[in-house]
Formats: sequence, C-alpha cells, structure tokens
Amino acid sequence: MPVITILRGFKVHYAVLDAFLMANGLVETFGHPPVGTDYDNIAKLLDSKMGDTYVGKGARVVIPGHGPGYSSTFAYVAYGWMHVYAHRELDLETQIPKDCPLEFEKLRKEILSFEDDKNVRAWQKVDETGRMGLYIVYTENRNWVPKGFYEPAEGPVICEECNETCKSPSDRRCHLAHSHGIEIQPYELPEI
Ligand SMILES: [Zn+2]
Repeated sequence: MPVITILRGFKVHYAVLDAFLMANGLVETFGHPPVGTDYDNIAKLLDSKMGDTYVGKGARVVIPGHGPGYSSTFAYVAYGWMHVYAHRELDLETQIPKDCPLEFEKLRKEILSFEDDKNVRAWQKVDETGRMGLYIVYTENRNWVPKGFYEPAEGPVICEECNETCKSPSDRRCHLAHSHGIEIQPYELPEI
C-alpha cells in the first residue's frame, strides 16, 4: 500500500546511503524502499548516530517507490517527517519544524563522506546530493499502513507518532488510540 511522506531532511544518491549502511553492518537498499526489519534496523542505526545528547524523534530513511520494477535514484534522510495514509491535517510549524538539530547535521556530513570514488561511480555523483529541504515522497512501507489493509505478521512495530516500540501491530493500534487519540477501525480510512 502506498503512503505519502512529508519530510524535512536531505536527499542523497542511494549509492552513497548504501555505502554508509554497509559500513555500519546493514544491507544495501539499491534504491528500493526498506521494509520490515530492514526499515527498523536503519532507524535504530540513525538514532544511535544522533548520539546521547539528542532529544527528539530521531531520523528516518525514506525512499520513493512506485510499483515493481522501478527503483529510485535518490533516498531521503529525514529529521522530521509525517506519513499520510489517506488524509491528515498538516501544521508544518509544529509537526515538522524547520530547525535542523545539530546532531542531524553531523549525521548528514558523515553520510555524505561516503561519496567517494571507492563507493560511488561517476554517474552516481549528482548535483542534488546532500541538499536540505522540505520534500514530499510517494512510497511504500507496509509498517505504516493501518490494520484492515495490511498488517505486518509480527512485531515489534515502531509508533511513528512518538517512536515507542510496540510489541505487536495490535498493541500499536491500542497505543495509537490511548496515547495519541488516533482510533483506527478496520476498513475505515484513518486520518493519519
Ligand atoms: Zn506513540
């Protein structure tokens, strides 16, 4: 199921991101959206790179996806993000603040340091690499899609609202309802 993500962060050629991921013991994306445990492992790595001084939601990798057989040139690394499954009110100033955390800027420099001749081919060095901005990305990530359309087979699942780890998808539904007032009924298009 597709999900739209509105994010603040930077875009980078996927080859640069892949070199960073491999240097840290994770698998390459090859320009495809990471799903399941791959997505969670990348989230954990980025969070750990932000260090102990950082307080906030962490960082995420978001890669555009549009059907089988296609892959993206770019991946996005975000310090602020919001997923839109069906429809949702948007308040950019509070939900996706413009201020970039210092820890994220350090992470950005570390990832961009992998853009060298060893890791990245000449045609993979593109002008837009590293550019910060506000982006809208159409992608597929089944972790984000509410119950009734697709449910991951097992947990744990990260709550995208507060980053808490829920031990199963149904626990996440309860958590969303109790902690964030987001009620998701089966077969109802949620405002999320
Ligand atoms: Zn939460």
